[in-house]
Amino acid sequence: MEPQTFKALLLAVAQTVIAHADELTALDQAIGDGDHGLNMKRGFEHVAELADGISQQPLPQALTEIGKTLVMTVGGASGPLYGTFFMTLGKELPVAPTLIDIRNAFNAAVSAVERRGKSSAGQKTLLDVLVPVQKELAAGTGGLLDRVKSRAASAADATIPMLAVRGRASFLGERSIGHMDPGARSSALVISALCDFLGD
Ligand code: ADP
Ligand code: MG
Repeated sequence: MEPQTFKALLLAVAQTVIAHADELTALDQAIGDGDHGLNMKRGFEHVAELADGISQQPLPQALTEIGKTLVMTVGGASGPLYGTFFMTLGKELPVAPTLIDIRNAFNAAVSAVERRGKSSAGQKTLLDVLVPVQKELAAGTGGLLDRVKSRAASAADATIPMLAVRGRASFLGERSIGHMDPGARSSALVISALCDFLGD
């Protein structure tokens, strides 16, 4: 991908997250401490500011820098997890990845988040979007972007009836049921913005 295109992709993803900050805040007010919108906005504002420099670098280094930026600026529980995800992609992906490389790197990044969060799918976290998307990536190439995008959205919706067993929302016990997980929603937003850009 040309640096200019890559920069536009980074800005599109960042703008999507920033535009949904209030929604993420409201979700985190319902079952957390209400900071997820600001955390994600702050992190992706930094990514947007650095987009020029990041987009000039080869893909692995660019992803590593995105991950480090998110670790340093998002904060909360989600910052280290998003950071781990992108830094692992940076470590695993070659400069010009094939779909097989992307699947393998995505699998490694999901495993790294699971280790870091001591968590797994089914616990009402961002993994409840990442793991279904991982499965969709593995399910062939036809209509891949559309499938990934709609799977991410339905997976975020599917966290509504879940009981939180990890993160702040778990302190609420049964009262965590009936609300979408903020991190699942933000993950779906990032994935959806990425699919929209790549589809155009
Ligand atoms: P904090 O919970 O510290 O306020 P944020 O509000 O930014 O941090 O992020 C909350 C989100 O982080 C949750 O909605 C959930 O998706 C994710 N999360 C929290 N803890 C974990 C964990 N142990 N494993 C996976 N995801 C987690
Ligand atoms: Mg929070």
